[in-house]
Amino acid sequence: MERFDVIILGGGLVGLTLGIALADHGVKTAVIDPADPVDTTAAGFDGRVSAISSTSCAMLSAIGVMPFLEGKGCPIDRIWVSDGLEPGALDFVPDEDDGVMGTMFPNRDLRVALEHAARGTAGLTRFQPDRTTRVARTADGVEATLASGATVRGALLVAAEGRNSPTREAAGIRTTRWTYKHMAMVSAIDHERPHANTAYEIFYVGGPFALLPMLPGTRSAVVWTVPTDQAPAMLKLSERAWLAEAQKRIGGFLGEISLAGPRSAYPLGFHHAAHITDLRLALVGDSAHGIHPIAGQGLNLGLRDVAALVEVLVDGMRLGLDPGDAQLLARYQRWRGLDAMMTSIAMDGLVRLFDIPGRLPRLARRAGLAAVQRTSLLKGRFMAEARGQSGALPRLLTGEMV
Ligand SMILES: Cc1cc2nc3c(=O)[nH]c(=O)nc-3n(C[C@H](O)[C@H](O)[C@H](O)COP(=O)(O)OP(=O)(O)OC[C@H]3O[C@@H](n4cnc5c(N)ncnc54)[C@H](O)[C@@H]3O)c2cc1C
Repeated sequence: MERFDVIILGGGLVGLTLGIALADHGVKTAVIDPADPVDTTAAGFDGRVSAISSTSCAMLSAIGVMPFLEGKGCPIDRIWVSDGLEPGALDFVPDEDDGVMGTMFPNRDLRVALEHAARGTAGLTRFQPDRTTRVARTADGVEATLASGATVRGALLVAAEGRNSPTREAAGIRTTRWTYKHMAMVSAIDHERPHANTAYEIFYVGGPFALLPMLPGTRSAVVWTVPTDQAPAMLKLSERAWLAEAQKRIGGFLGEISLAGPRSAYPLGFHHAAHITDLRLALVGDSAHGIHPIAGQGLNLGLRDVAALVEVLVDGMRLGLDPGDAQLLARYQRWRGLDAMMTSIAMDGLVRLFDIPGRLPRLARRAGLAAVQRTSLLKGRFMAEARGQSGALPRLLTGEMV
């Protein structure tokens, strides 16, 4: 029987980051995941790219993941938001000393970097691939039996199992959820004119079309949201027809385009757990909340959970508390519950606002975009949100260890 302070179920982007961050602070941690890292880091497993906010980047630096991402990310220097191809776009360009708003990384590079960092982390034990056959949480601790025959004990169980978290369900934690009548088609294009490190969010009724800057400077990731009933036909389009449809949405401002990656599709939904803690249990990442990828905030929200949970646990353990202590979990719940809820609601509102058809809603949206464009205070708040700088920041998000 092996003993740990924390047992994490799920070694995806959020779970593995948490494992590394906790172990780096001397917290003895186990990560259990049925997925084999050989498969999850293979080309083609996850073709998405993620906008990692500057505060999330600061945490990845602090816990030693950033060196493995050297030369892989494209900075986002500017965010351009428009209502279709109508004039009156919102253009976010930070002041020079404010630095970049975030960095685009291919998910595969993030997975490989975490894998390298995890291998060199003392105090982190990985049971991957392995799965639990029995998990018991009691007032005394957590015990899990694994399919491999191992038994592990810990003081706290963390569910980082993604949106369909079985541990959340078994704990009877209710979730508010709905599916958007949207699918996200994800791919990459090469374009004739450089993107100049700009992320474009072009909103259409039926779904937003996002172009996210990648390396080299003439490649962008495409996150193209289409109504679910149109998705099968869109996915069946020939490469030429797909590019022609994409070009209609881009309006030609990047010049000629060609396909630079495979096309894949993801169903989109919203879910939010009523609470993110229970007896010796904490939820992080998509196990706690799932949002529309409209502004690329889902993973960042999960990384904010990681930073807050690490701070709460490390502070508590330094005071001699057990990491499963109810007071510590209550602090985590208070810290993360509100921020996750506010971000989720804001993203959902944005999706709905731009999905209303008709001339009047379009005029109202244009007036709204123009008002934000003119008001530096509002613009500053949006940019702080993109950087992940809103709310009470855990130390890791400022680049400091706890
Ligand atoms: C199209 C699209 C684009 C996106 N773009 C962005 C973006 O630009 N920026 C951004 O911040 N976010 C983005 N997101 C959101 C982001 O991808 C997710 O929020 C993030 O991947 C969630 O990570 P996670 O580790 O919580 O969950 P997951 O990635 O789902 O990982 C869960 C892990 O748990 C394991 N597991 C499952 N069940 C168990 C179990 N019972 N026991 C043990 N292990 C288990 C799984 O094998 C898996 O490895 C996007 C999402 C979509 C759909």
